[in-house]
Amino acid sequence: MKLTSNFQLQEFVHKAIYTRIGDRCADFLNPMLAPTCQALRDEFGAITINDWMWGGKFTDSGLREPHGIIGARFSAHKFGNAADLKFKTMTPIEVQSMIMEDPSKFPYITRMENAEITKTWLHIETSVRRNSPIKIFNP
Ligand SMILES: [Zn+2]
Repeated sequence: MKLTSNFQLQEFVHKAIYTRIGDRCADFLNPMLAPTCQALRDEFGAITINDWMWGGKFTDSGLREPHGIIGARFSAHKFGNAADLKFKTMTPIEVQSMIMEDPSKFPYITRMENAEITKTWLHIETSVRRNSPIKIFNP
């Protein structure tokens, strides 16, 4: 199911969850997650999130299984608020600093992992509202 002009639902959810309940898992995602990824795509070019439906290796870059062992126990990924973005033509550090230069372009990003540490991906978290500056934290 298409969520935005460049992203399908499967790119935001773990294969096991999608296999079990199909398009219904769209209701487990923060409503601002896909639109925020689309805004980043429009600004910074092609992005890979999960690619399991095309035979790729990424399955945990969006909504994760509740009892999955990847990442923190209460990771925002388990609540449908987070995505790990791999950019085709830019580094995560470049993208992160450009977001921080003008955060008003991305009003639903609440937190990001420090891209200097994650290096190959940019972890973003979204909310339906942001009432404080974007927080950058170390994973
Ligand atoms: Zn992440």
